[in-house]
Amino acid sequence: MSDTTPTPTPAFPAGSVLGYPRIGPRRELKKAIEAFWAGRSTADDVEQVAADLRRRTRTRLAGLGLATDAPAIPSAFSFYDHVLDTAVLLGAVPERFADLQDADGRLDLAGYSTVARGRGDDLPLEMTKWFDSNYHYLVPEIGPGTTFRYASDRPVAELAEGLAEGVLTRPVVVGPVTFLALSKPTADAPEGFSPLDRLDDVLPVYVRLLTELAAAGATWVQLDEPALVSDSTGVPAQRLHEAVRHAYRVLATELARPQRPAILLAAPYGDLGAAWPVVAATDVEGVAIDVVRGAAPTTAPDGLSTKTLVAGVVDGHNVWRADLDAKLAVLEQLEGLGAAAVTVGTSTSLFHVPHDVADEPALDPTLASWLAFADQKVVEVATLAEGLTEGREAVHEQLLAAADALRTRAAAPGVVRPEVRERVAALTEAQFSRGTFEARREAQAARLALPPLPTTTIGSFPQTSQIRKARAAFGTGDLTAEQYEDEMKAEIRRVVELQEGIGLDVLVHGEPERNDMVQYFAENLDGFSVTQNGWVQSYGSRCTRPSILWGDVSRPAPITVAWAQYAQSLTDKPMKGMLTGPVTILAWSFVRDDQPLGDTANQVALALRDEIADLEAAGIAIVQVDEPALRELLPLREADQAAYLDWSVRSFRLSTAGVRDDTQIHTHLCYSEFGEIIDAIEGLDADVTSIEAARSKMEILGDISAAGYPRGIGPGVYDIHSPRVPSEGEVTDLLASAVRSIDVGQLWVNPDCGLKTRRYEEVTPSLEHLVQATRTVRATL
Ligand code: GLN
Ligand code: ZN
Repeated sequence: MSDTTPTPTPAFPAGSVLGYPRIGPRRELKKAIEAFWAGRSTADDVEQVAADLRRRTRTRLAGLGLATDAPAIPSAFSFYDHVLDTAVLLGAVPERFADLQDADGRLDLAGYSTVARGRGDDLPLEMTKWFDSNYHYLVPEIGPGTTFRYASDRPVAELAEGLAEGVLTRPVVVGPVTFLALSKPTADAPEGFSPLDRLDDVLPVYVRLLTELAAAGATWVQLDEPALVSDSTGVPAQRLHEAVRHAYRVLATELARPQRPAILLAAPYGDLGAAWPVVAATDVEGVAIDVVRGAAPTTAPDGLSTKTLVAGVVDGHNVWRADLDAKLAVLEQLEGLGAAAVTVGTSTSLFHVPHDVADEPALDPTLASWLAFADQKVVEVATLAEGLTEGREAVHEQLLAAADALRTRAAAPGVVRPEVRERVAALTEAQFSRGTFEARREAQAARLALPPLPTTTIGSFPQTSQIRKARAAFGTGDLTAEQYEDEMKAEIRRVVELQEGIGLDVLVHGEPERNDMVQYFAENLDGFSVTQNGWVQSYGSRCTRPSILWGDVSRPAPITVAWAQYAQSLTDKPMKGMLTGPVTILAWSFVRDDQPLGDTANQVALALRDEIADLEAAGIAIVQVDEPALRELLPLREADQAAYLDWSVRSFRLSTAGVRDDTQIHTHLCYSEFGEIIDAIEGLDADVTSIEAARSKMEILGDISAAGYPRGIGPGVYDIHSPRVPSEGEVTDLLASAVRSIDVGQLWVNPDCGLKTRRYEEVTPSLEHLVQATRTVRATL
């Protein structure tokens, strides 16, 4: 043997998962880190809880069938966010937080938390959506002057932690190309600068990391490069591909094994498309692809024959049991491509789904038998791996059980309801559109008689601890339905009186009766179930509990009408009815996978349409249908976006187009990237749309006006995401600038989102300033 003989690639397990929930089955990490932030515990306490969770995860995953002698178990923990972890690992902390780093660029847990959460005027890193999930990551800020250095030994320490217990894990880190593609330029970066310009400067840190991991005993490392499946990172595909070629030349070719572990380049969340041959041509030892969102590749590009292909056949994104037989067929087909090996994986990390169906004893057992949360998915992966290596007979029983579950699900009462199907099938085009906006504008102006620059809020008022206590007591039976209703009515009365006192023009009831803007509707519609412990991380320590939409949707009874009617009875001002739109209900639930999402959306839309008709009949003149998630579900690939926008916009119209001309439809969108989807917003045909705009200083209004958008628009005049109370002068200035950039007849005045997470100490003065500022600007008209 000559010494140029390549070092043989270490064994890769037949089954593995790309990641696992990190928050803990009972949100242990959330509780620990929030206690630390509140000063109720020390960093050591949190480290203890975290180490414990990691150990339980390793033990659990091994117990469910993942190998411990080959790196099947990911080491993918995070205290807050994995993109922040990567920035911290690279020493790439914004200048304003540099004082938190020690001489070697390291951050302690307090410093790390500060970068995530901000302090005083030092804003935290911005947060944005992680690919097409409901998870939000922190956006690193990278400029020409950012210093990169190896500044965290956490990946190495966590590997060692596993090895000490005899478990060989696979460290998971965001890859260099995705890290930079997801970063934003620092404020001082020159025009045209792109964080990817710094690729050559981050690579040495990755080289160091890989070297350290190899020295500590890692045989494989997973570098996540989901930027490759997306057209939405802002980096052109050619540039991304070039960056991949370059980065992996440095990390995989120039850095030879065994100085580094074998590299698994993971591309979750979609189809690699044109990046597939690019990835195959690198010298990494393994590629993980998503064959749930993405198509199974049918071509074997150059370079594939030396690689392990980790086929993500088990859906990391949704909660349904897999059709194991069909998955095996996909795996067998992939074996035909001629990769060095095909192994079984998940399409994404499992942190988008809850831990364990067994934690849901209250769930209907039939429904539960159709579900696979993270732990059940691990078993599916292990089963498929066994089937692939030992043959179908070896897992015969499991295949039958999976097929059985699918059959029961398809035939179960409520899954397909002819009356719902017939109603959707009978829809006519006319049901998707209202009369002309001009006619509506006149009819509504006559009915509502609002002053110029009408003031309103987005819907929710603070969810006080009293409200939460009442809801909990109602849940446990300590409050009767009647007592609970009385408490909520008292709250509504307080909120209405407060708004009257402040002088707002269009009032809301405050949404005290809603635990969550989606779950509340899920609890009141047929076809949904809710979980007790099904928490998934939304961002940092924040978790949501998505509802499970499993059957055909209908509305057994009016949901919001009595509350709206009661609220309207307390005031002569118009009271807005408040609903969550079909797209947002889908986006924030686990949706059925047995029919197109657009069909499900139309079922939800019809239920909402009935609700709106009842609100209208009850005398409610304005109905707001919130769609903060409209942009969230936008597909990552441009080619898929038009079809999505078509069905999503149509479902909104189906829900709202049944009203009379003199009933005003509002919608609320939680973001300011109005320009990106202005055609879609045009398509919604809402009479008034409120958006976030305070942080972008109303810049968006210029575009809206230039686009000739004729309908009402309520740009948020202050940022409710911060406890800061805006001064009257500041709101006056913003409004004055708004009046200059858009026809005053279109303008509404409102905060930029609901107030439920704020306290009255902030809300009351903020709204007073808003109303005062509006009066000042009205006087100049
Ligand atoms: N009506 C909801 C509220 O005010 C809207 C929330 C949202 O857009 N996320 O809370
Ligand atoms: Zn909002």
